[in-house]
Amino acid sequence: MPHDIKCITHESGNEEGWVCVCNNTPSTGGFFPCDLKGNEIEPVKGWNRLYVCDRCGRIIEQDTLKIVAHRRLLRLPLLSN
Ligand SMILES: [Zn+2]
Repeated sequence: MPHDIKCITHESGNEEGWVCVCNNTPSTGGFFPCDLKGNEIEPVKGWNRLYVCDRCGRIIEQDTLKIVAHRRLLRLPLLSN
């Protein structure tokens, strides 16, 4: 498996049937609205349309399915405030 995967995929013909690179889907672990740090939030107005994979912590941009960040990496001690 290549190391440079930058996007998740979805089931063919079902753009909401997301399949994360960790094989999580909406019907297994699921995906939750989150902020840029991967904190789960309510998808209210002003939300940046990001989702976090509940299994691996990758943060996904809804419109492009791009992996924009990773919750676990953001939790490294060096990066925390
Ligand atoms: Zn995942």
